[in-house]
Amino acid sequence: MQPRVAGRNFLFVPGPTNVPDRVQRAMMVAMEDHRSSKFPELSTSVLHDLKKVFKTESGQAFIFPSSGTGAWEAALTNTLSPGDKILAARFGQFSHLWIDMAQRLGFDVQVVEVEWGEGVPLQRYEEILRADQRHEIKGVLACHNETATGVTSDIAGVRRALNAADHPALLYVDAVSSLASIDFRMDDWQVDLAVSGSQKGLMLPAGLGILAVSEKALGAMAGAKSKRCYFDLADMIKANATGYFPYTPSLPMLYGLRESLNVIFEEGLETIFFRHHYLAEGVRAAITAGWRLKLCAKEPKWYSDTVSAVLVPEGINAGHVIDVAFRRYNLALGAGLARVAGKVFRIGHLGDLNELMLMGAIAGAEMAMQDVGIHVTPGSGVAAASQYWRTHDPVPKKRVSREEQFYESHSTGSIHG
Ligand code: PLP
Repeated sequence: MQPRVAGRNFLFVPGPTNVPDRVQRAMMVAMEDHRSSKFPELSTSVLHDLKKVFKTESGQAFIFPSSGTGAWEAALTNTLSPGDKILAARFGQFSHLWIDMAQRLGFDVQVVEVEWGEGVPLQRYEEILRADQRHEIKGVLACHNETATGVTSDIAGVRRALNAADHPALLYVDAVSSLASIDFRMDDWQVDLAVSGSQKGLMLPAGLGILAVSEKALGAMAGAKSKRCYFDLADMIKANATGYFPYTPSLPMLYGLRESLNVIFEEGLETIFFRHHYLAEGVRAAITAGWRLKLCAKEPKWYSDTVSAVLVPEGINAGHVIDVAFRRYNLALGAGLARVAGKVFRIGHLGDLNELMLMGAIAGAEMAMQDVGIHVTPGSGVAAASQYWRTHDPVPKKRVSREEQFYESHSTGSIHG
């Protein structure tokens, strides 16, 4: 069947996410001189305000013209030397890819294999760190939200494990599919390098690799002997100090980022986290109470508020559900990746979303599942989600927390005025 033409495409992959119209409009700009005396107004305001999204005051934010993968590489190569030992857990395609990158860059990665559907194994991490009396482990990697399986890990718990072992290793966190959607606290959790990208909670197209770096990690740069050039933070620090970049930045993306930060601060970070949880609970009600299917995430403590991976019954290829949803109903669902390919389809529920948009995804997934022979009761997912959403508050009772007030009062506001 040919893809449908009329009506809009329903984009429910867990990134890229829907770009709000006002963000899209903010990106429609004539090109400008990125070395003009005016340019630093834009660059310094986005670099400053990004820190609030990471919840860091002492850290520094960086923007690379890359995707999240580039920021992974920047984090590792700027702070480590070849042969350095890293501790990491593999429990999905993205935690796997970061490990793969670290190995290819010449680091010695101690990999803890974890069942897909679970997250960072805190107790195991603590045991390994305690046993490392000589402090040979220089970095600890943690994927905050494993997008392939819909699993969120406890980063505060990783910090507790490091502290319990009195271990000085740097803490590297992949916050690609959690930043600006699930609470992330760089300073509170003493995260040293937090990696993200533009196309998820920041509601932009892909194209910016975003990194926040602690003072401790900045201090590690001098001794880090890994080869780096394009991603060298030293060049970036030098240029950013005067509001410029060491190479040509993407103007439309920076204007888009300015507007997406405005959107984020208008809603408020805490309200955004609350909304993501509320929407995710409705989707999970559709999957488990409505369709009577299972999530790939093994226990509620792992449930992700940005993406749900739905296990299809044995004998069914989840790829068929995704294909029918796309071709017949103009609905883009996320594919199962690597070890869970064919076993799951994913519903992304992050970014610029509300209940009725998600109803489209739930209804479309339900129809596509019926079309490929999965026995779900027609309307059951929609009924379960609506029951949840109708009986729960969509916004926090107390609208603005003290913490949020702090972050909002420190906003530099809009470049567009
Ligand atoms: N880490 C996670 C958790 C992701 O979900 C992704 C992409 O989806 C990446 C890393 C890689 O980011 P990018 O595709 O922006 O390079």
